[in-house]
Amino acid sequence: MVGNCVFCAPGRDEPVYVSGKWRVLLVDEPDYPGFCRVVWNDHVAEMTDLSEADRVEVMNVVWLVEKCIRDVMQPDKVNLASLGNVVPHIHWHVIPRYVNDRSFPDSVWSVAKREPDQKETMFRKGKIPELRKMLSDVLNEQYGLSLQR
Ligand SMILES: [Zn+2]
Repeated sequence: MVGNCVFCAPGRDEPVYVSGKWRVLLVDEPDYPGFCRVVWNDHVAEMTDLSEADRVEVMNVVWLVEKCIRDVMQPDKVNLASLGNVVPHIHWHVIPRYVNDRSFPDSVWSVAKREPDQKETMFRKGKIPELRKMLSDVLNEQYGLSLQR
């Protein structure tokens, strides 16, 4: 736990799986349903601060989350991002993107280009329970039962 680091604290995002080393969160971003984060549990800044085995593991989790997002959310594109400039605590953003979302083709943190279509956004939000279940099933199968249950 480091100071006021948002990823050292539990936060408002919904954990869908928690391991001893990392966790997968469903992010509360109303314009981007299906937005997930893979967060390392310890306060570590850079991927190369991790052991090789841990680096491989965290990236494998990112690939599994991407696959679940593709299967359920059917995005036009998936964005993977690891910046950590604001919060230097390893976290990967895994974001389903659609050509008509708020800021496509720019990043989700860019200035909005359009008002997102409310009907489509609601349709995508409707897939969240299926995404939550698939993430939970896939990660439980690969890494054993989540510690949060
Ligand atoms: Zn931290």
